[in-house]
Amino acid sequence: MEYTAHTAIIGAGITGLCTAYALQAKNHSSHVFDRSDVVGGAIQSTIYNGYLAESGPNSLLVKDTRVAKLINEIGLSEGGPLGHERLLATKEAHKRYIVQGGKTHAMPSSPSGILKTPLFSLKGKLRILCEPFIGSYKGDGEESFAHFVTRRFGKELLESAAAPFVSGIYAGNPDQLSIRHAFPRMYELVEQHGSVLKGAIAMQSGKAQAPYKHKPTQTLSFKSGMQVMPRAIAEQLSEGSLKLATELSNIKKIDDGWQLTWTDSAGITHQGFYKKLVISVPHHKLKKLPLEPEILAKLSPLKAIKAPPVTSLVLGFRRANIEHPLDGFGMLIKKAEQSPLLGVLFSSSMFEHRAPQDHVTLTCMMGGALNPQYAQNTEEVVIAELDRLLGLSVKPSGSMAKPTFSHRTEWPQAIPQYDLSYQNIIDAITSCQQAFTNLHIAANYYQGISVSDCIINGLELGEHLATDQS
Ligand SMILES: Cc1cc2nc3c(=O)[nH]c(=O)nc-3n(C[C@H](O)[C@H](O)[C@H](O)COP(=O)(O)OP(=O)(O)OC[C@H]3O[C@@H](n4cnc5c(N)ncnc54)[C@H](O)[C@@H]3O)c2cc1C
Repeated sequence: MEYTAHTAIIGAGITGLCTAYALQAKNHSSHVFDRSDVVGGAIQSTIYNGYLAESGPNSLLVKDTRVAKLINEIGLSEGGPLGHERLLATKEAHKRYIVQGGKTHAMPSSPSGILKTPLFSLKGKLRILCEPFIGSYKGDGEESFAHFVTRRFGKELLESAAAPFVSGIYAGNPDQLSIRHAFPRMYELVEQHGSVLKGAIAMQSGKAQAPYKHKPTQTLSFKSGMQVMPRAIAEQLSEGSLKLATELSNIKKIDDGWQLTWTDSAGITHQGFYKKLVISVPHHKLKKLPLEPEILAKLSPLKAIKAPPVTSLVLGFRRANIEHPLDGFGMLIKKAEQSPLLGVLFSSSMFEHRAPQDHVTLTCMMGGALNPQYAQNTEEVVIAELDRLLGLSVKPSGSMAKPTFSHRTEWPQAIPQYDLSYQNIIDAITSCQQAFTNLHIAANYYQGISVSDCIINGLELGEHLATDQS
C-alpha cells in the first residue's frame, strides 16, 4: 500500500504536534488535522496594547530534559528569534500565597518557614512531621487525594495548603481525585520510599533515580506568550503536514491502515491513506469524530470523564492602584474563604513583558469542580473580591480602581479530572488500542494534564510509532 503519509494525527494541540515532531525526527511523515485555523488547542496567548493574556496555561514546568531539549531545538531558548525567547519565572515567583481569614500568607518553603507560618497551628505542624512514620494505605479501592493527605499529614495541611494546590492544578475536588492517577509522582514516592518526605529528600539528594531529571526545575514561558511554543513546533513540520481548518467526514479502518476523508478551508474534499492513526482531540469532542461505530463504542466509557468549567479573566491595573506587593506567583484560596475565585496568578510578577510600564496583569481563575457556577461570575464580582484580598484603590480619592485591560476566556470543559473511577478510562483506552491495531489515543485525559506531560507523551508516542512494526 502506498501511504499518503505514515501517520494521521487528529488534533494540533501540544500533544498532537509533539507526536508529529518526533515522527519527523525519525524520518516519518505525518498529516496533522485540526478544525481550528490555529495550532495549540488550549494554549492561546493574546497581546493587546502592551498586555499579554494567556487564555489557558500561563507557564510550563520544566523538570524533564526532553522538554528542555525540545525548547532548544525549536529555537526558543535564549538567543532564539528576537521577541520569542524563553523567559524564566522571576525570583519572586517562588513565593506562593494562600488566602486565609481574608489575608494572603506566604506558603512556607523551608523547615523554619513551616515553624513560623500562621497557616498551621503547632499541633498541625507537629502532625506534618509525623508523615515518615505513617504506613501504607490499607483501604479498599482507590485512595482519594484528600484521604491520602489527611492520613499522611493531617487535616490542617489538606485544608490550608494541599486542597488549594489541587484547585490550582486541576480546578478539582480533593475528595474525588485519585492520588494514584492525578498525582502519580507523589504516590510513587510513598511506594518507593515509604514516605513523601523521605522520597522528596532522596530526590533532592540525587539518591533516587530519575533518568530524564532536569536540574534545576524551571518555571518558564516565552516573551510573546505560551502560544509561540506550539507555533514554533508547527513551523518545524514539513510543508503540507499541517491540515488546519479542515473538517473530517470519514475515518475508516482498512486492511493496511486508515483511510481519511476531509474537506479543506476552500471546500475541496480530499482522501488520504495512513499506516497509523493518532486521536488527540479533547475527550468531549470524541463523539463528534466520524469514527466507525465499533471504535466509538469502545471509547464510550470516556464519556464519563468529568471536566468542570473554568473561566480565566485577565485584568490589567495601574500598579499604583493595588496595595498588595504582588511579590509572588499568585494566590490560592482556601475553600473556607467561600471566595468567588479559585485563585489569582500575578502574571506580570511571574514574567516580564506581561503589562505596560507601571501596570500589572492579574489572571483570575474561577469555576472548577467545587463551584462550577462561579465560572459565570461577572467582572464586577471579581473586582470586588480582588479589592477585598489585594486592596484596589485610586489615590488620593480612595475610590475603587477600574481595570485598564480585560480579557475573558470561558472553558466549558476545562481540565479532565483523574478521579476515583479513572482506572475505567485507562482500561477503555487500552482495550480500544488493542482491538484496533495502529490506533492510538494521546491527549491530556491520558497520562497527564500538564503541558509538560503532554509534550513528553507526544514525543514518546511519536518515537514509538516510528519504530513499531505492527
Ligand atoms: C484554563 C487552563 C489553564 C491551564 N493552565 C496550565 C498551566 O498553567 N500549566 C500547565 O502545564 N497546564 C495547564 N493547563 C493544561 C494544559 O494546557 C492542557 O492539558 C494541554 O494544553 C492540552 O493539550 P492537548 O494537546 O492534549 O489538547 P488540546 O490543547 O485541547 O488540543 C486538542 C486539539 O484538537 C482539536 N480538535 C477538536 N475537535 C477536532 C476535530 N473534530 N477534528 C480535528 N481537530 C479537532 C482542537 O481544535 C485542538 O487544537 C491549563 C488548561 C486550561 C484549560
